[in-house]
Amino acid sequence: MTKKSKVPGWIWPLGLAVAGAGSVATVLLRGCWHRKISWPVRHDDEYSYIVCTNCGIKRLFDEKYFREFGPYDYEIEDLIAHDRAKHAAHKLRLEKKVKPAIVTNKSA
Ligand SMILES: [Zn+2]
Repeated sequence: MTKKSKVPGWIWPLGLAVAGAGSVATVLLRGCWHRKISWPVRHDDEYSYIVCTNCGIKRLFDEKYFREFGPYDYEIEDLIAHDRAKHAAHKLRLEKKVKPAIVTNKSA
């Protein structure tokens, strides 16, 4: 019994590329489409989340707009850290007042 199963080296880069397409990578790894979603669970004053009752993955939930948003993750703390980082980056951009390039074409 010397047969070894070799995993080709290109599998992981492929998986990472797919990860950009939301939950697709999770589906491939867990075989779950997250169709059975719990009611929103309140985490703290700021965040709520929904849980897939099949595989246990979580996603942040916006109570104001009553919809889930952001990436999927098994750790709610990671999701919150991700969301906070996103908001911090957004706030930084506002403070720096970096405006998108506006084409001013004044031909008067
Ligand atoms: Zn799931």
